[in-house]
Amino acid sequence: MRVSRILGVGATVLALTLSAAACGGPTNNDTGTQSLVDRIRAEKKVTIGIKFDQPGLGLKTGDMYSGFDVDVARYIAGKLGVPEDNITFKQSPSAQREDMIAKGDVDLVIATYTINDQRKAKVGFAGPYFVAGQDLLVRSSNTTITGPDKLNGKKICSVAGSTSAQTIKSKFSTSVGLQQYGGYSECITGLLNGAVDALSTDDIILAGYAAINPGELKVIGKPFTTENYGIGFKRDDTKTRQALNGYIQEMEQDGSWKAALMKNFGAGYKVPQPPAITEK
Ligand code: GLU
Repeated sequence: MRVSRILGVGATVLALTLSAAACGGPTNNDTGTQSLVDRIRAEKKVTIGIKFDQPGLGLKTGDMYSGFDVDVARYIAGKLGVPEDNITFKQSPSAQREDMIAKGDVDLVIATYTINDQRKAKVGFAGPYFVAGQDLLVRSSNTTITGPDKLNGKKICSVAGSTSAQTIKSKFSTSVGLQQYGGYSECITGLLNGAVDALSTDDIILAGYAAINPGELKVIGKPFTTENYGIGFKRDDTKTRQALNGYIQEMEQDGSWKAALMKNFGAGYKVPQPPAITEK
């Protein structure tokens, strides 16, 4: 009697599992493998790629992590049922993000990561959760570089594998001496010691460096691209994309998004309207 009851329950569970799988339940409906969000929810742990050297966005100080991307990462992890101690942050330099995702070194990348078609051929994106624009950072004493049309013959620093370096190459290739470093903080060293004339990348990244070098560096403030920041993960995982899009929208609606921007960029920062989700 007892055994048959147990078997009966087992059969019901099996039937439910099969029907859940048939309607896309616990599996990723694109590939039939388990979707990332289901795995994270089951394991209650996640590895997230961030920047380690971008103040205000992704910064490692000792064993502490801070910045808007870190706050987005913690919010998403919380929604997936991951306790804060079970989040592992890994440094994801611009040139390594696609590979780190593809190899499974990280589950998610939340690292000032612009959504574009070239990258979408390799990884999946949710979002955007923020919109930046490429701009220029110069020494405060510089009066000649007043915008992207004044870069002739100048040495411009940017980072390998970034859309910023790509834009400089495609728009100013003949007139500008582009120097590509591994990370933006290395460009800051070059800018402060005079090795380069300007650093070009997203305005929000530049604002973070200007804030920690008061009186020494200034952002020009004439953005010349649109950079939609997305959350990167392995390709072909619609269930993960939809879940992450939902959490981004919750973060925007419950006030946490605005609070995170104000916390990381200070009272003087004018919080923009959150962008509409485009990656469906
Ligand atoms: N958002 C740009 C990109 O994804 C520049 C910033 C970065 O390198 O992280 O390439």
